[in-house]
This record gives sequence, structure tokens and C-alpha cells, in this order.
Amino acid sequence: MGVKRDKILIAEDDAAISRLLKTLLKAQNYDVLETTTGEGALAVISSHCPDLVLLDLGLPDMDGTQIIRSIRKWTKIPIIVVSARSDEEDKAMALDMGADDYLAKPFGSIELLARIRTALRHTRTTAEDEGIALHGRYEVNGLAIDYKKYRVYVDGRDAGLTPNEYRIVAYLGRFAGRVVTYKTLLRELWGPQTGSDNKILRVHMASIRRKIEPNPDEPRYIFTETGIGYRMAEEEEY
Ligand code: CA
Repeated sequence: MGVKRDKILIAEDDAAISRLLKTLLKAQNYDVLETTTGEGALAVISSHCPDLVLLDLGLPDMDGTQIIRSIRKWTKIPIIVVSARSDEEDKAMALDMGADDYLAKPFGSIELLARIRTALRHTRTTAEDEGIALHGRYEVNGLAIDYKKYRVYVDGRDAGLTPNEYRIVAYLGRFAGRVVTYKTLLRELWGPQTGSDNKILRVHMASIRRKIEPNPDEPRYIFTETGIGYRMAEEEEY
């Protein structure tokens, strides 16, 4: 009996891309399921319970965001959107609809595999993550979030964040490695009635970066996904 292998569903109607993904994933010892339609994706998810879905936003029969909404009605399975569309609004909408991450075509295989590992790890350690969020610590390259003391340290020195700045960094730290949309941040931190004005976030982020980044113009802790949101550097593994 071997170790249980993660099953990944490729929902993609472009045969060349699908083949490429399959080869790549099989080489990494993932089990691979395939479909070329949205209806197929929904059917395979309910019948075969894959561990993760790579979803092309442009499938022939259903709108990508509609597929995500349907999936999210009954499962929290990680969804990584693979999008050929250059339209950032589509990606942001997919993420707000419940997708976990996105990759724009063409993408590099190293990046794709890293995103898959991150998404799989987060599902497996959700309970643990909640624990970290409440009691623990996030640490990467000299940046530490102390969730008990509500403080952020850079190389051991208190960064002196304001309460709102702390909340932004703490939230991004909980989802380290994954993109968090502006809309999600605004909703989670300022409530559902908040408008979609990202200006408040940009102002806070500029101040946060001045306090935590050695070079705010080339961030190493919090990256901007232009037009979409922010991504915190992945936590170090111990
Ligand atoms: Ca397509």
C-alpha cells in the first residue's frame, strides 16, 4: 500500500494545455482526472472527490465564475483558476467567488506546482492555521507576526504598525502564499457595507511597506497583484 496520492482535476478545453498539465502533474506523482466542460467538472468533482481543481475560466459550456459558484455550494475543494484572459477583473471576480488562487497563461511549471502545493497544504492544515491565527506566529525572512501580542516584528524590532495596519498584515499572513483580493480584504476588515474603493488599502499598504520592507519599491514580504490584491510571502516550512 502506497501513500495516498493527491488527485487533481484538470478542467480545460484546450487539448495542448491539458496534455501539458497532465504530463507535468503525473511527473510529480499526482493522480490526474480530466474534463473539457463545466458540466463535466461539476460531475467529476461530485463523483470522484478530487483534492484540487485546475479550472480554465473559459470553458465552452459554462461561464467560469458560474462554475466556481456551483462548486462552492457544496465543497471547499481548492480551486486554482487558470486563465487566458488578460482581464484582471475576471480573475478578481473568480477569487471573490471562492477560487483559491489563479495563474495567467502562459505560466511557468515551477510556479504552477508551487501554487498547487500551497493550496493543498492549506486545506490540510486549516484547523492548524486557525490555531496559528489565534495563538501562533507567522515568520518569513525576518518578518514575524505575533498573533498573541498583535504585533509585527522585523528582525526582532517592533514595526510599530497602527491597529488597521496590523489587521491587514495579520489577515494576509493567515493566507500566506495565496492572493487575497482587495474586495475580500475590505469586506473582512471593514465589513460588507464597505465600498470597492481600494484607495484606503493603497494608503495603508504604502505606510505598512515603509515600516516593514527594507526597500518599499521592491517588496519582499507583501507583493501586489496588480488590479487584484496582495499576496504575502509563503511561510517558511519547518
Ligand atoms: Ca478555454
